[in-house]
Amino acid sequence: MAWCDECDHLVEDDQLDEAGACPTCGTVLTEPAPRPIPWYFKAMVVAFIIYLGWRGYQGIDWVIHHV
Ligand SMILES: [Zn+2]
Repeated sequence: MAWCDECDHLVEDDQLDEAGACPTCGTVLTEPAPRPIPWYFKAMVVAFIIYLGWRGYQGIDWVIHHV
């Protein structure tokens, strides 16, 4: 169920048209499905975390050997 601000009334889900719009005024009431995060973006984040972890390890290693 969605609330239409334009018409000031509730619209049942089965009354919404295919685009999720109000049948009376045509205002889109439902949020479009969020775009899935592409796999290469996730891979990039994972690679970045691994890189940071490696740099962090190197930094700690350097400190241990130079204190
Ligand atoms: Zn409406």
